[in-house]
Amino acid sequence: MAKKIVTRTYKASIQNRSQVADDLDALGFAASKLWNIGRWTSARIWDEIGHIPEHDELTSYLKSHERYDDLHSQSSQRVLQELAEAFRSWYGKRQNGDTRANPPGYRKRGDEHPRSTITFKNAGFKLDTKHDHVRLSKGDNTKDYWADFILCEYQTRPDVDLGDVTSVQQVRAVWTGHEWELHFVCKRELDVPDAPGEQTAGIDLGICTFATLAYEDETAELYPLDCLKEDGYYFGKRIARSDDSTSTRVERLHRKWSNRRTHYFHTLAKHIVDRCVEKGIGQIAIGDLEGVREDEAGEAKNWGPHGNLDLHGWAFDRFTNLLTYKAEMHGIAVEQVDERGTSRTCSCCGREDDSNRVERGLYVCDECDLVANADVNGAENIRKVPLNPADSSSGDRSNGWLAQPSVYQFDQTSGVFTPREQATP
Ligand SMILES: [Zn+2]
Repeated sequence: MAKKIVTRTYKASIQNRSQVADDLDALGFAASKLWNIGRWTSARIWDEIGHIPEHDELTSYLKSHERYDDLHSQSSQRVLQELAEAFRSWYGKRQNGDTRANPPGYRKRGDEHPRSTITFKNAGFKLDTKHDHVRLSKGDNTKDYWADFILCEYQTRPDVDLGDVTSVQQVRAVWTGHEWELHFVCKRELDVPDAPGEQTAGIDLGICTFATLAYEDETAELYPLDCLKEDGYYFGKRIARSDDSTSTRVERLHRKWSNRRTHYFHTLAKHIVDRCVEKGIGQIAIGDLEGVREDEAGEAKNWGPHGNLDLHGWAFDRFTNLLTYKAEMHGIAVEQVDERGTSRTCSCCGREDDSNRVERGLYVCDECDLVANADVNGAENIRKVPLNPADSSSGDRSNGWLAQPSVYQFDQTSGVFTPREQATP
């Protein structure tokens, strides 16, 4: 066992709800107002100078605004930070060709009393874990004559004791649609098992073969995740057939599609971690998606207008996060490595040449006559990145296995990944 510090969020209900609801409502409303002021200001700056302000610019711009003091200064700062993040994420999606992405909107103009999440950072809350009390600071404008804080009595799940955590970093008051609840963002020390071994596996993420693994024991596995593609066509067609893209039916289809995707990713990540445990892996090197976009832009088109819609960047990011989290629990470290050039470089002799990448999924090297599955060649290159060049495992390897990966498919009936009988590259 080894100790590891992780971040966890614990939800808690508020016991004295009726006593604090008005105060929380007032702060939630203030956070919405500040968001809208920030949103309006960002749009004005964009119109004038063609630049979306970063959160620190926005903060210095609005610090003296009278509404800024409706919340504790750290809470106000966090609202503007979230707004800037939302702008940046939208801008990034647009640049990646996601035309469906919308810029962050105003907070519920139709709603009389919108309740935004309020975040309290270290100077903005005081936690008493002995009595399950937390004091949440108000802003200068919202303090009244008898209290400058909101005293919440909270209750966490029975298996969670905030007294046990290393530190509570923030408290968030979140409106669920029915009531306010508290989210405690904590650092806590966990016992994680020792790594199952010392070997490294390389993972290449791609559009056609979603994940390709190269192991140190000279085996390789392909995970085509065809179910994603099938879902893409199925849901894409049904959504396109609908006249009204804002209807609840279309919304339901989007939600169902996204739930299924999430399920595949979870299952695949779990399966891969299980395989790595079996094979004594201590470290996974995974390609950073920047390179994927660049190298496989051509392949992406094969997915058609619906299939590839959400698979750029977003899916790889989410999958990498899931995998990292699940691997951590088994003591396996996941390292993201720059994969630029990994698809063009020969994993056997190291020669990098554009002409080396050939058709039908095969990589042929003119220098050393290697014939490999192109995805496996990429995954093997990624596997080698974090290794010390002097590491013995990078030399003296046979290369026949590079052309003979096992192919795993998701079986819809059993819900597990099973190896296909014969691998045809
Ligand atoms: Zn070569």
